[in-house]
Amino acid sequence: MNSVPSLNGFSIIQQEWFAENVPLSQIAKEFGTPTYVYSRKALTDAFNAYEKACFKPNGERRAQVHYAMKANSNLAILNVFARLGAGFDIVSAGELARVLAAGGEAKKIVFSGVGKSRSEMIAALKAGVKCFNLESIPELSRLNEVAASLGVIAPISLRVNPDVDPKTHPYISTGLKGNKFGIAYDEVINTYREAASMSNCKIVGIDCHIGSQITEISPYLDALDRVLELIKSLGDNGINIHHLDIGGGLGINYANDTPPAITDFANTLLNHIEAKGYGHLEVLFEPGRSLVGNAGLLLTTVEYIKPGETKNFCIVDAAMNDLMRPAMYEAYHSIVPVKQSNMPNMTCDVVGPICESGDWLGRDRELNVQAGDQLAILSAGAYGFTMSSNYNTRGRAAEVMVDGSTIHLIRERESIESLFANEKLLPA
Ligand SMILES: *Cc1c(COP(=O)(O)O)cnc(C)c1O
Repeated sequence: MNSVPSLNGFSIIQQEWFAENVPLSQIAKEFGTPTYVYSRKALTDAFNAYEKACFKPNGERRAQVHYAMKANSNLAILNVFARLGAGFDIVSAGELARVLAAGGEAKKIVFSGVGKSRSEMIAALKAGVKCFNLESIPELSRLNEVAASLGVIAPISLRVNPDVDPKTHPYISTGLKGNKFGIAYDEVINTYREAASMSNCKIVGIDCHIGSQITEISPYLDALDRVLELIKSLGDNGINIHHLDIGGGLGINYANDTPPAITDFANTLLNHIEAKGYGHLEVLFEPGRSLVGNAGLLLTTVEYIKPGETKNFCIVDAAMNDLMRPAMYEAYHSIVPVKQSNMPNMTCDVVGPICESGDWLGRDRELNVQAGDQLAILSAGAYGFTMSSNYNTRGRAAEVMVDGSTIHLIRERESIESLFANEKLLPA
């Protein structure tokens, strides 16, 4: 079966797929394949859908979006969001450098992740990030020591594990007890007490992030209630929380998913917080996938059609190194021919050229294609390029952003030579 999500920024015009006003076939011709194609309009609209919920009726800001850039960290994409006023959620010194290079503001950065190194802490303290989201006492002690050595105070938040089931894939659920993420619910108050005693840390917030590709609101409301209870007990202990960071994780429609609309989702959570009497808190959202996932696709060319005894294979020039999600999570991406035809369909597996049985992009798809045709793998804007690798010594794909009728090359295709430029032969 082939189900196609309804998309913003991409459409079929006279039997042919377009990115905004540009036919995908033109992009393939000019830039080759595989190529990631993003729509500036789709990125902008997704961001603005969050923004719409972020203000009180009197115009005062009640929440701020911090784009979780691990979903897609191309400089041009970061720059689009930075120009719209976004903050960023980073997980490494590399991501910090990217935000700064893309024109993002350090004071709007939150630094997440379970394993921050000393050098990463130093870089983030020097840059002056808004907050460190910490996940353990050893990490807290290290940050306190590093901040002391630099003579600065580190703003901190503790990532709480609210122990709720987000009902998503086990690899992308992060808020359950058995998970490596966050501080166990029962230990949160004591950990905050410990933090309060540290001379070079200043408590500013609390955060949680329960998973990814979540398509229901109820796990968020459960997590919120658990975190609001903690904020109350912390207050009773003399520890005041200034901001509440409710993480990311809102799902997108890959084909048959039915996540809430972004603005409704954000409004529901913010109204819930206000109704519980916490409207004075500054709220942070950390969306990744819901900002970029459906704003990008992966354009690929069919190399061969290989009829098989039990099934047909459509072998394309994109592979698991370009888009890992199917191999890693058995994720479903809708796959469509760039030019629709009236030929009879065949059922096939869409696979790449890599020497792994896991190298597939779609299974049992009804497609009418021939060698040389182009396909678009939809909903590939999040965790697509950023998870790509050079496995099989394949250069990573080019990336382009379409803005109206203009195509901007935002990352050149990697050359073969660049792949081993840092390698050395042994001496003669
Ligand atoms: C990955 C991640 C996000 C973003 O998740 P999405 O599912 O892409 O929205 C937000 N916050 C943290 C801490 C993360 O690790």
